[in-house]
Amino acid sequence: MVKRRKPFRPRCRYCRTNQFIIPIIYAREFTKELLEKEEAGELKLGAAFVAFDRPNWHCRKCGWEFLR
Ligand SMILES: [Zn+2]
Repeated sequence: MVKRRKPFRPRCRYCRTNQFIIPIIYAREFTKELLEKEEAGELKLGAAFVAFDRPNWHCRKCGWEFLR
């Protein structure tokens, strides 16, 4: 079987590209691994208590956060 799963990243509506888009991860516990990934700019950690309509994508260029 061929694996062709590309990580999906929606485009920023302002920058018109997805190259600055990173996922926002809502974790109850921020592990060392998660913190290291955030530091590397691979993802953004979100507060776990925000439960309604929370965005799951973040644009590192313009700061726009949205739900997709
Ligand atoms: Zn943007």
